[in-house]
Amino acid sequence: MPASTGSSFILDDPAPLVEALLADGWRVIGPKLGDGAIVYDEIESASDMPRGLTDEQEGGRYRLREGDPNRWFDYVVGPQSWKKYLFPARQKLWSAEKGDNGFAIEPHEDDFPKTALFGARACEIAAIEVQDRVFDNGDFTDSGYKRRREATLIVAVQCARSAATCFCASMNTGPSADSGFDIALTELDDGGFFVECGSDRGAAILDRIGPAEAGTAELEAANAVTLKAAGMQTRSMPDNIPALLRENLDHPRWAEVAERCLSCANCTMACPTCFCSDVEDVNDLSGDHAERWRVWDSCFTLDFSYIHGGSVRRSTLSRYRQWMTHKLSSWHDQFDTSGCVGCGRCIAWCPVGIDITEEAAAFAAEPLAQEG
Ligand code: SF4
Ligand code: SF4
Repeated sequence: MPASTGSSFILDDPAPLVEALLADGWRVIGPKLGDGAIVYDEIESASDMPRGLTDEQEGGRYRLREGDPNRWFDYVVGPQSWKKYLFPARQKLWSAEKGDNGFAIEPHEDDFPKTALFGARACEIAAIEVQDRVFDNGDFTDSGYKRRREATLIVAVQCARSAATCFCASMNTGPSADSGFDIALTELDDGGFFVECGSDRGAAILDRIGPAEAGTAELEAANAVTLKAAGMQTRSMPDNIPALLRENLDHPRWAEVAERCLSCANCTMACPTCFCSDVEDVNDLSGDHAERWRVWDSCFTLDFSYIHGGSVRRSTLSRYRQWMTHKLSSWHDQFDTSGCVGCGRCIAWCPVGIDITEEAAAFAAEPLAQEG
């Protein structure tokens, strides 16, 4: 049966899918082992992916372990996210050369071939959709982001387990993606994959393989996999967090967390939705060549809030409060969505193990009394 949006199939392993993408001219980016973590990088075959590994994550802790050698995707998200491709950490915007009539400016467009993001988890697809609202929202469009996004195909992997740091179920962003993918894979407990087609582009790739059609038994087995992953989550975010933070800006808890926070910015670098950037101008020693670069920035740096005369947020208290209230509260006012998808990266990659869900729970447990 030809594939179409909504149709489903079964595959023994992901290798034919990687091969079909490569044969169709896609650059394939997928999970790889790098520096003791699962990172995202170009893959040339399914065997490049870290089969048989699993992860342990906690506040300030990330470890890979040997798992079932037959399992392909028994780890969850690592320190990197797909924003490293869609919103690169350093982007050249333009360069300028001095000539007889002054400087001539040459806009720069990075080379971004059509790219398949292989193994995107539900929370990561949600994070991409959050960044879509920032960079391509109709009124204001970042042309580079739009170009990269349009050249992107998403092969999702539905999570078969959750790490201790995951809380996507309480953010309604996972562990199973209902949309936002071209193809989605669920690794079944008894082996093999349930494959969902999510778009015409996904259908074209699946038709290259011609996989067997899935039946009700495989659909039920796939649903059981993601239900089990959701049931593993022990962390959660209170439903009323936007109002809770808005009403507790003077809560003593901010000073308590600021005592522990190093203002290192790791949480913002690891976060798949954080989008702040700075612009750097550089020139060579001759003064004849200049470049403008956009680089990731963070609300945890002192310079980030610098306006004439000094920085507005001088204390760690004010910077942590800015980050958490923007993420979970004022992001709703700006973009009609939360800025957090519950991936847990900021918990695992915080060097002192500060846990955004624990901080939220502290406000919920003892909110300031409201006047009136
Ligand atoms: S705030 Fe933390 S849990 Fe939420 S999306 Fe960012 S890194 Fe993930
Ligand atoms: S919360 Fe943790 S990761 Fe974020 S700035 Fe503070 S110490 Fe660094």
